[in-house]
Amino acid sequence: MYRPTGPANLPHDVWTLIAGRTAAQSVRDLCSLRMLCTAARNVGDEDFVYRCANIPIWDQRWWSVSLMHQPGRNFLARCRQSGHLEVLFRSAVSDLFLGGCRFAGTETMHVVAAQGHSAAQYTVAMMLMLRDDAKSKNKGLQIFRGLEAAGVLTNCKLVFCGVVQGTWRHLRRLPRLDAENQVCSSHACPSRGNMGAIYRHQRYGREWDVNDDDGGAAHIPCVHCRADYELILFVHLFD
Ligand SMILES: [Zn+2]
Repeated sequence: MYRPTGPANLPHDVWTLIAGRTAAQSVRDLCSLRMLCTAARNVGDEDFVYRCANIPIWDQRWWSVSLMHQPGRNFLARCRQSGHLEVLFRSAVSDLFLGGCRFAGTETMHVVAAQGHSAAQYTVAMMLMLRDDAKSKNKGLQIFRGLEAAGVLTNCKLVFCGVVQGTWRHLRRLPRLDAENQVCSSHACPSRGNMGAIYRHQRYGREWDVNDDDGGAAHIPCVHCRADYELILFVHLFD
């Protein structure tokens, strides 16, 4: 007679897969699953499962600030420990631009970017290009070129915006954009110095300005000028 396998007898790999998929759906469902049996409880505490967890931005914000929500804070800490890229990215944005520890934010952002998180790579590129020295600017430009070629800039800006928007305005540490300190330094470049005007023209009468595919500076042949345009957009993501 056919007897279905009891949940406790499922192979470990199958449990991991189930727990990972469940975590990707909802943290609440993961908690329910973990109460099912010992095997589920153990596998639910593995790094892989924490890395899969789907945590809406509002939950992360609430858990981070609410002293009442210790389980949420513990869960986030465990996600960070396991290397959950989205949670780490949001923490890094918060540290860098929303009143946290800037040094820790920079370090985390570089770690997340090195893991291939494109919004973190975008943030690193913008931060490097905003600096004064040519070496940092060039490094940032190389990352920017890669993101531009991959066609992921718009998505990076949307992800970044999603973390910044809805936060307290008075806590925001706006990146400083110095007009004298542009990426394009070629006096022979016909578009140099015109990015601010193009931005104002593009934005005129429009609500949303992160899209780089429908105009913007996409038609400008000079990549340094396109980078300058993106820096203007980046600073305005905080509006
Ligand atoms: Zn130029």
